[in-house]
Amino acid sequence: MQTRFTLAQLADPDIKAANDILRACVHCGFCTATCPTYSLLGDELDGPRGRIYLIKEMLEAGGAPPVPAVTHVDRCLSCLSCMTTCPSGVNYMHLVDIARKRVEETHRRPIIERLLRRALAEILPYRGRFRMTLRLASWMRALAPLAPGALRPLLALAPRRIPRAAARDTGVFAAQGETKRRVALLAGCVQPTLAPEINAATIRLLTRLGCEVVVPEAAGCCGALTHHLGREADALACVRANVAAWRTEIDAGGLDAIVVNASGCGTMLKDYGYLLRDDPGWADIAARVAEIVRDVTELVDEIGMPEPQDGVGGVVAYQSACSLRHGQKVVDLPKRLLLAAGFEVREPAEAHLCCGSAGTYNILQPDLAARLGDRKARNLEALKPAVIASGNIGCMTQLGGVSEVPVVHTVELLDWATGGGRPVGMETADG
Ligand code: SF4
Ligand code: SF4
Repeated sequence: MQTRFTLAQLADPDIKAANDILRACVHCGFCTATCPTYSLLGDELDGPRGRIYLIKEMLEAGGAPPVPAVTHVDRCLSCLSCMTTCPSGVNYMHLVDIARKRVEETHRRPIIERLLRRALAEILPYRGRFRMTLRLASWMRALAPLAPGALRPLLALAPRRIPRAAARDTGVFAAQGETKRRVALLAGCVQPTLAPEINAATIRLLTRLGCEVVVPEAAGCCGALTHHLGREADALACVRANVAAWRTEIDAGGLDAIVVNASGCGTMLKDYGYLLRDDPGWADIAARVAEIVRDVTELVDEIGMPEPQDGVGGVVAYQSACSLRHGQKVVDLPKRLLLAAGFEVREPAEAHLCCGSAGTYNILQPDLAARLGDRKARNLEALKPAVIASGNIGCMTQLGGVSEVPVVHTVELLDWATGGGRPVGMETADG
């Protein structure tokens, strides 16, 4: 694709990066066919190729983008399905991130939207604030139909019951038997509040496999939530805090891996080297950190799945989170591990399409998110599974709201198969 940036514009590292990405696009449109928003809306401007043109025009013109361009960029899920399909290696992820940052810096949104986005950025990444807000929202759930439009999806997503926090979920967890590896687990922000059982199952499984698991309290939100809202300074503050926490652990005793069990965070962590590439004080250590990041299924596969225990099994519908499938290209591995653990694994039609969760998308774009969520749930339920498994808390929350089938994390099933308890979500579903 031809671009027309001036030399002065190209001196800006974002424009330079965008220019390189845009020039790789050959307008073929293959990506359009696998874009969830294009499949729903049928508008070229709600597909990747259309958005690429809009972003190019917005960046070339400089200043505040036109409102329709903002609307089409806002509707993008950042699911990265287009990157899987693209034959030319166009890095749409970095391009849309640059566009979001530009929109955030130059475009003035209506007041309600501004307040909502700010509230999301100031609440979700902080465990204490999120827990308090969730408690308030769960009390107000019944009032959702009467709430102002922008608040309705937020209240509808609030769980009826907030799980009790784990007794201990940070610190050092010793390996069972011989210590084969020392790994750090990202505790996360939203996940330990909504589903503390996921980190608990991860720690049980990894220590059983001979890992000493370190969960530093100083490592929190991965930064993806604010990054996708275009709030770059907030996102980079999270990135630096996490890198600093893991540098301390690397200096203290070395780390063989940094493990993530929320694939949205994993995609972000694997990009830390890129995000801090222009910061001389952080670039090297951020690149080192990014190199050792592993999704929990990648680490389990590296160590080797032990023989499963008797009496565990059933039909699992595997929901492939976009961030794992398209963002990290971990596609078949979780299914293979579940199979080795004794489950019958089935994959739904349209496995490549997003469930509509996409970070804060189901709050900011509730109608499109609901349509995608229903479509995904129908495809999964058609498999007649005993349980739905996914590797990302966002998908689990989204599907848990629309499906009658219990939704659990892949790691909970692997833990169950190798000596842990039955996943909490399956127990609750059985009443
Ligand atoms: S990231 Fe997903 S929603 Fe956005 S343009 Fe690509 S395929 Fe479409
Ligand atoms: S598939 Fe790749 S090269 Fe083709 S239009 Fe989409 S982004 Fe451009």
